Amino acid sequence: MELAGIIAQGEGQTTEFKKSLSLRREALEALCGMVNADCAKGIVLFGVEPDGVVCGVESGNLDSAQRSLSQAINQGFEPRLPFEIQVKVVEDRWLVVLSAERPRSVPYYEYDGRAWIRQGSGKRQLTLAEKDQIRRVRDRAFHPGPWKCDRCGICVGQLISVTMTKDGMRKTYDCSCGGEFWPST
Ligand SMILES: [Zn+2]
Repeated sequence: MELAGIIAQGEGQTTEFKKSLSLRREALEALCGMVNADCAKGIVLFGVEPDGVVCGVESGNLDSAQRSLSQAINQGFEPRLPFEIQVKVVEDRWLVVLSAERPRSVPYYEYDGRAWIRQGSGKRQLTLAEKDQIRRVRDRAFHPGPWKCDRCGICVGQLISVTMTKDGMRKTYDCSCGGEFWPST
């Protein structure tokens, strides 16, 4: 979607506005909450006020700002979060656009030791019980079934295929069609 369209829709489940790059911690906690939610993705726009007014970021040194933002993401997220940072111009002002998506092999992310979950445009920390529940639903090693192939769409109740690796027996998730089995929800 066009950036202007995203801004016009306002903050929500997958969109967070931050008026300044100095609000980095809050922004990354919000990003953590968005990728941990079921939609598994989020976008943070730096240079937009919470009510959607485009104020632009401090244009001093956007290169080093992007570098330090990248560094904070790489150091703060566990496991490592794939992300993209872009600099865009909207209404003649500079915006820094940070977007990320949780691969389905990752049940949830922690930022600075905390697992956030977004609800609407707010966030809270996941409880221990919720983390367990998420692992059962999303983590293939914990998921009890049923399973669905991402290629042919076949559903199976149980996975019985195992392979021998140097670390011992391991479940395999390969379907005979060449696809992979993932938790069916
Ligand atoms: Zn298949």
